[in-house]
Amino acid sequence: MRAADISDQITEVLVTEEQIRAKLDEIAARVAADYAGRDLLLVGVLKGAVMVMADFARALPDVVPMDWMAVSSYGSGTKSSGVVQIRKDLDTDIHDKHVLIVEDIIDSGLTLSWLLENFASRGAASVEVFALLRKPEAAKVRVDCKYVGFDIPNEFVIGYGLDYAEQYRNVRDVAILAPHVYS
Ligand code: IMP
Ligand code: MG
Repeated sequence: MRAADISDQITEVLVTEEQIRAKLDEIAARVAADYAGRDLLLVGVLKGAVMVMADFARALPDVVPMDWMAVSSYGSGTKSSGVVQIRKDLDTDIHDKHVLIVEDIIDSGLTLSWLLENFASRGAASVEVFALLRKPEAAKVRVDCKYVGFDIPNEFVIGYGLDYAEQYRNVRDVAILAPHVYS
């Protein structure tokens, strides 16, 4: 479904499915070149990164393994709690692997900065981040993000994997959720 199908629940479409597709192709080409000849492992952060991971991994020209982690930092509200908890750990030993974390969005940056430290302590050869979206004005901690899809304003967004109370993940576009939906 498209964002236009829920126009009564959003205020603005920020990134369309078509723009996401084009950006993923562009970043996949960069990643393929940057990691040529290296042992790359994609790590997706559940559940928000499911759509990005699915489309990004398939845009890559090479066979690449994927693993998943589930962490919680949000609950069902719209503000980060800052407390990160592992709900599902990696299945893979990342020692000596070149890890690329695939994320839906960097908001405060708290989740990713915690993950980066956690992965470094497990002896990964390198850890980089690809975030489809980033809210520069919401940053509470600095996160080194090598690949960024789109910088967006500091608004609560839904779609393309991003949810509000587990809803809207299956919307193809990224849109600002109308405040009347959550207030
Ligand atoms: P951070 O720790 O504040 O950077 O946010 C981490 C997680 O919160 C992201 O991976 C998302 O799952 C979720 N999140 C942050 N901003 C939004 C939003 O605007 N809509 C939906 N989920 C969000
Ligand atoms: Mg997430």
